[in-house]
Amino acid sequence: MEKVILVRYGEIHLKGKNRWMFDDMLLENMQHALKDFDVKIERVSGRYLVRGYKESKEKQVIASLQNVAGLYSVSPAIEFLHDQQTLKNVALDLCKDCQGTFKVETNRADKTYALTSMEVSRDVGGFILAKNKNVKVDIHKPQTVLNIDIRENGKTYVFFDVYHCVGGLPVGSAGKGLLLLSGGIDSPVAGYMMAKRGVKLAALHFHSYPYTSLQAKEKVLQLAKVVAKYNGAMKVHIVSLTKIQEAIHEHCDPDFMITIMRRFMMRIAEYLCKKEGYQMIVTGESLGQVASQTIESMTVIGEVIKDVPLLKPLVAFDKVDTIEISKKIGAFDISIQPYEDCCTVFLPKTPVTRPKLAKTLREESRLDVDALMQEALQTLELIEI
Ligand code: ATP
Ligand code: MG
Repeated sequence: MEKVILVRYGEIHLKGKNRWMFDDMLLENMQHALKDFDVKIERVSGRYLVRGYKESKEKQVIASLQNVAGLYSVSPAIEFLHDQQTLKNVALDLCKDCQGTFKVETNRADKTYALTSMEVSRDVGGFILAKNKNVKVDIHKPQTVLNIDIRENGKTYVFFDVYHCVGGLPVGSAGKGLLLLSGGIDSPVAGYMMAKRGVKLAALHFHSYPYTSLQAKEKVLQLAKVVAKYNGAMKVHIVSLTKIQEAIHEHCDPDFMITIMRRFMMRIAEYLCKKEGYQMIVTGESLGQVASQTIESMTVIGEVIKDVPLLKPLVAFDKVDTIEISKKIGAFDISIQPYEDCCTVFLPKTPVTRPKLAKTLREESRLDVDALMQEALQTLELIEI
């Protein structure tokens, strides 16, 4: 008999012939998440089993697994070889301190097991009822549910708790992406959403030092760590926009500051994608949220990107919904620290909300775009999280 963690995964079973690849990635990501715990991970039909961890670390192991994209839920369980009498004894022992109403729920993956799942539940439930006078059965609204999982590896698992994980797909299975990470609320959430959907992310952050502070950069690295909880090890590219912003400020219509600056951000992002093999750019934009996120702004800004898709997982999110996720993933308290972002430097009084491409190009033609790009790329700094 052994205490193990029973791990269920989500959508991988849909993946047909590619399934082994998803399985391998998931296993690797679990191993990475649990690297500090000295565990063994075993794959059995329909489940993973984590064993060998110290009992005192169980909560931490569970918490780490909960962040692994592609996993659905986990349960600390007692494992033993199929045997109905052992099952009853284990179940009774687990329920020795139970009071009030309870029910037994059985999942029987091993169809060769002598009893059906209904019969197992009834047999075990009846046994507990006969021996523990403090409980009674309520199949509709029980205070306690005792779960039994009879697997095809010849073993049975008994447990109470089911902890939900992030779900989605294993990180890496949906390709590589470059997350434009600001110090705000939206972009870390966008990163989390894409990591959970299987994208292995690197980040790109723009600063405007000395107009923005060094704390602003520190804050972004903290946010990158939050995303990395779900994404695994992450490269953070940091580029200075200062010279670009100064040039726009000096030469262009001030109302186009943000439009033109964001076009530079996208050019630099696309350049890095091509250089490093990232297959998509990801931002935290949401339709209509600010002047630069109207459909007209998005069109004119997105127009500079030629060969890489630009994905905006929050495009239809309301801010309250984004904030809810931000709190859930532990980013919110960092995001609301009051350090200036580069977008607040040289902020125009009346930014265009519906920029025309022709006018934007006219304003931009006063700049040496290639030279400014080169200059900005020379400030590139790489940090591994
Ligand atoms: P956020 O909360 O993510 O800062 P926001 O509502 O403040 O978003 P904007 O500042 O317009 O909106 O930014 C829109 C998106 O552009 C961000 O979600 C992010 O993906 C990207 N972005 C903005 N500023 C930066 C920056 N300094 N570095 C990298 N990406 C940025
Ligand atoms: Mg922002």
